[in-house]
Amino acid sequence: MRTLQDYLQILSSLNVSYSKEKGKAPYKPILLLVVIDLIAQGLIKENKILVSDNLIEIFDKYWSALGKSAYKGGLTYPFFHLKNDGFWHLEFQRGFEGSRPRTVNQLKKYVQYASLDDNLFNFLQNQFTRQTIVDVLVEVWFSDKYSNLENILQLDQDFQEQIHEELGSVVEQDDAEPKAVLKKSYIRNPLFRKTVVFLYGYRCAFCELKILQSSNQVIVDGAHIKPFAKFFDDKIDNGISFCKNHHWAFDQGLFSIGDEYKILISKRFQEESPFAKSMKEFEDKKLLLPDYEAYFPRLEAVQWHRENVFIS
Ligand SMILES: [Zn+2]
Repeated sequence: MRTLQDYLQILSSLNVSYSKEKGKAPYKPILLLVVIDLIAQGLIKENKILVSDNLIEIFDKYWSALGKSAYKGGLTYPFFHLKNDGFWHLEFQRGFEGSRPRTVNQLKKYVQYASLDDNLFNFLQNQFTRQTIVDVLVEVWFSDKYSNLENILQLDQDFQEQIHEELGSVVEQDDAEPKAVLKKSYIRNPLFRKTVVFLYGYRCAFCELKILQSSNQVIVDGAHIKPFAKFFDDKIDNGISFCKNHHWAFDQGLFSIGDEYKILISKRFQEESPFAKSMKEFEDKKLLLPDYEAYFPRLEAVQWHRENVFIS
């Protein structure tokens, strides 16, 4: 039986078309992100992936954000050819003669549904292992988007707008169940987090600690200044990179940030730090900031944190 590590390995080395001019064709990783998105949203509940209108539509959306213009989009190719990667199984309709479907209609006609290895499907049911799988897919297949920040920001914005459109009514209601909204963030969140920590050079903005095993295994998080669950704000300037300790302390309001990006420390907590610099010693230190001012924490968000979270 394959382990999570096995699947991460397989998903990192999917068999994709490649040409020197066009680079790697991202059809398969995009289809997988779409399937994972549908699982996260509860729209795929059992291990049967149908060629549904939903799937076709969401694939096109993802393609327009993450695809390559050198390649023509389209679900048919990856839906059929993923069967060669060892974890994606096709159940054919009776009468299928073995020729490759060339259009979505042919795909629907020849294929009843696809299914994943049961084990992989189970990993995708679990929030934590699903997140790891998404992280790896994004890291391996779409990391070129990091060097092209405009793209990520645009993508971020597109998703943001899409969420507001689709969930506008939910967001308006105070007592709305936040889960429905949070489910939507599985794909977008890794991009937010990765972009933010990249912009801070993988360092904590508070203590400047950097521990890097690979760009996928770092000690810092991309933290939301105004909580995502409340504001649905994934704009880059609502983010700061913090190590695990200082992310927690920031969310608890043990410190905040002044308008000049100087650190403000709460007087109302106890602290012992016999071997490392204590938090209180960071009072008035200037926060580490990204190279470009456009990505600095937004003053309005910082002010919100001071007024609503900081224990002054
Ligand atoms: Zn730190």
